[in-house]
Amino acid sequence: MTDDTPGIDGSKPSIARIYDYLLGGRDNYPVDREIGDFFLNDLPGSVEVPVENRRALIRAVAAMAEDGIRQFVDMGSGLPTADNVHQVARRHRADARVAYVDNDPTVLAHGRALLAADERTTVILADVREPETVRHHPEVARLIDFGEPVGVVFSAVLHHLDDEERPGELVRWWAERVPSGSRFYLSHFRSGHNEQTRLAEQRLQSAFGRGRFRTDREIADLFGDLELLEPGLVPCSLWRPESASGDRSGAGERELTVWEQMISCGLARKP
Ligand code: SAM
Repeated sequence: MTDDTPGIDGSKPSIARIYDYLLGGRDNYPVDREIGDFFLNDLPGSVEVPVENRRALIRAVAAMAEDGIRQFVDMGSGLPTADNVHQVARRHRADARVAYVDNDPTVLAHGRALLAADERTTVILADVREPETVRHHPEVARLIDFGEPVGVVFSAVLHHLDDEERPGELVRWWAERVPSGSRFYLSHFRSGHNEQTRLAEQRLQSAFGRGRFRTDREIADLFGDLELLEPGLVPCSLWRPESASGDRSGAGERELTVWEQMISCGLARKP
């Protein structure tokens, strides 16, 4: 990949590009592949983590859209891939609108290229730790009507925040500013108390100098007073595995792998 977009630094690893590499994407640099290859080669099977995370996100977006949500803010959206949030949502609600938010300029460059002709989506370069900036960004204000329910997505992003950055307060900030009936979807790396998970966490922390896997209790706390919908907070593979997306992983009838256990998710409703 070569890209001259201002801000894109091919000498430093990027969370978005490594994740995309693991999902089979081509928008990456050697520095990203070095970390991606650690997961592929030294932690065999760990590719299940992004794959199951993405599958659960697709099922959750479909569920939100089926429940009537027609506007989404996708925090830490990542590089465009197969089945982006707006594409999934529009299978159920043709008029769905999506604001993608990421602080990686690579995401902005590729997102804009993909979405240029689409009036009902936008991608903005912003840090999710600065919710005021996201909320009042002109593109978000143009697209999202905060008077009607919103689907707020924090998929695989809050584990990149340290405790001092108060991820729970960030979720609450949004929960206080969207109407009743809004949905919150979160997925998060889970501390598994085993060697593989410890190595994965260590590698991510050494690459990015931040972030933390959390226990089930800590992840559940991120939802605050929101009302968790069925089946609650569970490993991504177990989140409504038989729902409309056609995913047939067979999870639920067999023991989950250590990698499937490494990422959990939940969908909640603002009462
Ligand atoms: N949400 C997508 C998914 O679940 O498929 C992508 C997840 S990827 C592991 C995490 C994304 O969060 C990356 O694109 C990264 O750039 C973004 N990210 C990490 N920290 C962020 C921050 N503070 N503000 C905005 N985006 C952030």
